Amino acid sequence: MQLEFYGGAGEVTGSCHILTVGGRRLLLDCGMIQGGSAPDDRNRAPFPFDPAEVDAVVLSHAHIDHSGRLPVLRKRGFRGPVYTNPACRDLVRILFSDGATMAERDAERQNRKRRKSGDKRRVEPLYTLEDALAVLQQFRTVRYGQASEVIPGVELVFRDAGHILGSASVWLTLREGATERRLAFSGDLGQYDSPILCDPEPGPAVDLVLMESTYGGRLHRDRAATLEELGGILRDASRDGGNVLIPAFAVGRSQDILYELATHFEAWHLDDWKIFLDSPMAIEASEVYWKHADLFDEEAREWRRRARSLPPLPNLSLCRTAEESMAINRMTHGAIVIAGSGMCTGGRIVHHLKHNLARPECDVVFSGFQAQGTLGRAIVDGREEVRIHGTRIKVAARVHTLGGFSAHGDQRDLLRWYDGIGGRAPVWLVHGERSASEGLRDKLLAQGVSAEVAAPGVVVDLGAVA
Ligand SMILES: [Zn+2]
Repeated sequence: MQLEFYGGAGEVTGSCHILTVGGRRLLLDCGMIQGGSAPDDRNRAPFPFDPAEVDAVVLSHAHIDHSGRLPVLRKRGFRGPVYTNPACRDLVRILFSDGATMAERDAERQNRKRRKSGDKRRVEPLYTLEDALAVLQQFRTVRYGQASEVIPGVELVFRDAGHILGSASVWLTLREGATERRLAFSGDLGQYDSPILCDPEPGPAVDLVLMESTYGGRLHRDRAATLEELGGILRDASRDGGNVLIPAFAVGRSQDILYELATHFEAWHLDDWKIFLDSPMAIEASEVYWKHADLFDEEAREWRRRARSLPPLPNLSLCRTAEESMAINRMTHGAIVIAGSGMCTGGRIVHHLKHNLARPECDVVFSGFQAQGTLGRAIVDGREEVRIHGTRIKVAARVHTLGGFSAHGDQRDLLRWYDGIGGRAPVWLVHGERSASEGLRDKLLAQGVSAEVAAPGVVVDLGAVA
């Protein structure tokens, strides 16, 4: 039996690890590569195995960098089951249909360009909605803590990873002849004491740990300080008489922000505002969160019981149509707008920025990572002027960056999860930029734990690990 690293090793996207047990093949995640150089080429590249010969996939959570290449796998011949948590399946459904629309639009754009330059070849979309819907039919849901055999010789138990709704760490028992090995794969781990979700859950001792290391080299800003900062921003903004824009990812961050607005409604005097969730995808994702409230932590379950129905805020409007979204632009003050995309690379937030960014009485509040080259990054970096839809816009609004909202645990959280397993099993670190993984590796080594940073193509002989 062996484990081979393929994607999400030495980088944070494209999570995919290949397990071979008793001649059968199992994938841990099958994620899309995002950002970096030529991600489209990399996503189109052949897999290092025949997709038709993959017996099953275990999916840790819905984020596209873990799930996004499943429709491609299906398109190329994969017909086996995909095991995941029920809430994860519901979120994947939303993300896949959005992804398919984007892939088809992207191919169209490239084909238009080719036609103009006289090139007759046509680009196929990476996958279509049909591929996405087909692979969703292959999903089999497994609740946290429930043991199930995924392929002969491999038993699976999911445990809550506290990262986004339905996110799981994966405990596997592998049997081949007389050999038995146990493996824990962290998936992406959340912060302890984060809103809505439960803490990452520990599990029994194993022979090998496969652990993410996105923030393996650093500590996050304190959450209480972050909330105090947000409260201060909203109080000041109310006095200044402008609007507040909050760019947010549709799944996870939008729900976190709504939850914090709801729980601090009185303290932050939010009844003075009109609040808009201006994103059909975030509205759908919120409905999935609502439906799976049994997965919430104690506090959020209590809040859910009291709130009963969506929307959980008396002055919250859910904007589904473009007309509803455009109507917000007629408001010069008193609007808090939560909209995507999180890095302002597209979506409705861009229109709101166009209307508000040049007004000094407005505020823009960033709560997530802004990648190099995005509009969000340009604003966060303090550029005096940005280009939106070809128009130059002065950045006069106040810009804030909140540090404590990450969906990923920091170094302390990751070590706490590892300590919870007990047994001090050897660790392979995945899902991290080199320096972050090495930061965590050094910390583990200092504690006497055997730890290595994974790289694509490295093969671990599981029979030799014990
Ligand atoms: Zn994730």
